[in-house]
Amino acid sequence: MLCVKSLRLRRQKMNGQGSIAIVGGGPAGALAGALLANGGQEVLLFDEKLAWEKPCGGGLTHKALQRYPFLADAGSEGNPVEDCELISPAGQRVRFRLQYPVAIFSRLALNGLLLERARRAGAAVRQERVTRLARTGAGWQLTTPQREYQTSQLIFAAGARNPFRGQFLPPISPSDFMVTAGYFIPGRSSVMQIQFLKGITGYIWVFPRADHVSAGIAGRMGEVATGELRRILELWLKEKWLDQNGFSLDGSRFYSHILPSFRAQTFETLEVCGEAWSMIGDSAGLVDPITGEGLYYALRSAELCAEAMLAGRPEEYRARLQEEVVAELKLAARVSPRFYNGQIFGDSVLEKMVSLTAQSASFRDLMSDLFAGIQGYRDLRARLYRILPAVMAEGLAGTLRRPWNKLSGSEFSTDPLVE
Ligand SMILES: Cc1cc2nc3c(=O)[nH]c(=O)nc-3n(C[C@H](O)[C@H](O)[C@H](O)COP(=O)(O)OP(=O)(O)OC[C@H]3O[C@@H](n4cnc5c(N)ncnc54)[C@H](O)[C@@H]3O)c2cc1C
Repeated sequence: MLCVKSLRLRRQKMNGQGSIAIVGGGPAGALAGALLANGGQEVLLFDEKLAWEKPCGGGLTHKALQRYPFLADAGSEGNPVEDCELISPAGQRVRFRLQYPVAIFSRLALNGLLLERARRAGAAVRQERVTRLARTGAGWQLTTPQREYQTSQLIFAAGARNPFRGQFLPPISPSDFMVTAGYFIPGRSSVMQIQFLKGITGYIWVFPRADHVSAGIAGRMGEVATGELRRILELWLKEKWLDQNGFSLDGSRFYSHILPSFRAQTFETLEVCGEAWSMIGDSAGLVDPITGEGLYYALRSAELCAEAMLAGRPEEYRARLQEEVVAELKLAARVSPRFYNGQIFGDSVLEKMVSLTAQSASFRDLMSDLFAGIQGYRDLRARLYRILPAVMAEGLAGTLRRPWNKLSGSEFSTDPLVE
C-alpha cells in the first residue's frame, strides 16, 4: 500500500500534479519560483526563452537593492550609476549626484541570476512555451509543444503580453499601455540621462550598463506610434548624444516592446487572483505609470504572492498587494497627467522640475530620493510643502547668482554640473 502511494506520488510529481506552475521566468516568475521552492513547494517554471535580453532600461532602485540584497551583491553585473542628467523639453539641463546609485543591469544577466536562484532552490525550470491552459477539476492542465502537465496552482508571470489574461479577466485597453523603442548601443558611459519631451507622455532615457547602454523612448499607446517614437529617438541620438559622447549606432541592436501604464480607473478595478491562479509583475499591470519602473514591483508582487501561498492563504495576496503596491501605483496614475502636461507657477511642471533641481539642494535631495525609490507618492505632497521655504530661498539665491544664457536655450548651460 505504502509503495503504491509513494509510486503514485512520484508519478504525480513527474506530471506536475500537486505542484505550482509558473508561466514566465522573468524577474517576477523567477523570484516567485525561488521563494516557493525554498518554502518546500513543488515548482514547475516555464519560460520559452529562459534568460534573454528583454527590452528594458534595466534600472534597479536603491529600494529594490535594499529589499533584495543579493542583487546589490551582483557586482559588475549591476552597473552602479551615481550621476544623473535631466533635460527639460525646452533644453534646460541639470546634472546631479544621486545619493544612492541606481544599479543598471543587462536583462540577460538579471534574468539569468534570478533563474539560477530558482534552480538552486529546487524549482524545475523548463524552456518551453505554454500554449494552452485548461481547467481540470481543482487544478490546471498546461500544454507546451513538448508535453502536457497537471498542476494544482497557477502563477502568471508572462509579462506585458500575457496571452492568457483573456481567460480570466477583461482585456487591457490600449489606453493602459505605453509603447517603447530603443537601442542597445555598445560602449561605456557613467551618466544616466533623461530627456523629457514636448507633447509626449513619456521620455527618452540613456541607461549605462556594464558594456553597453540602453537608450530608449516611451510614449502612451494611441498618442504616438512606435515608428514615430523611433524616429524621434534616432533624431535625438544623432543630434544630441552619439557624437557628443563618442558613441555610434554601428553594432547596436534595435528593440521595441509594450509596457503596462494603467490609468487610475484601471487600478480601481484591478484583479490579481482567483481560484487557484494569481498574476504577478507586468502580467498584472504592476508598473509605475510615471517612471515606467516595473522591476521592483515585479519582484515585490512575486514575494507577496509567494508568502500568501506558503501561508496556505493565497487569496491574501490581493489585500497585501492592494495595501502596499496598488495604492502607490494608483496615486502615480492620478499624478501622471499633471506631471507630464501640467503647469505650475506659470511654467510646465517638467520645466519647473528641472530648474528647481538645478537651483535648490533641498529639491535635489528630493529628486535623489525619488530615483532611489525611497520617496513614495503618498507622502510626496507633505514633503514638498515641508521643503518649499528652503526650495524658494535656494531658488532665489540661485537665480541671483546664475548667469542667464538665453542664446543656448539653457538657463544653466554655463555650469550644468551642480554638485
Ligand atoms: C523598454 C522598457 C524599458 C524598461 N525599463 C525599466 C527600468 O529601467 N527599470 C524598471 O524597473 N523597469 C523597467 N521596465 C519594466 C520592466 O522591464 C518590467 O516591469 C519587468 O520586466 C517585468 O517583469 P516580469 O517578470 O513581470 O515580466 P517579463 O520580464 O516580461 O518576463 C516575462 C517572461 O515570460 C516569458 N513568457 C511569456 N509568455 C510565455 C509563455 N506562453 N510560455 C512561456 N514563457 C512565456 C517571457 O519569455 C519572459 O521571459 C522597462 C520596460 C520596457 C518595455
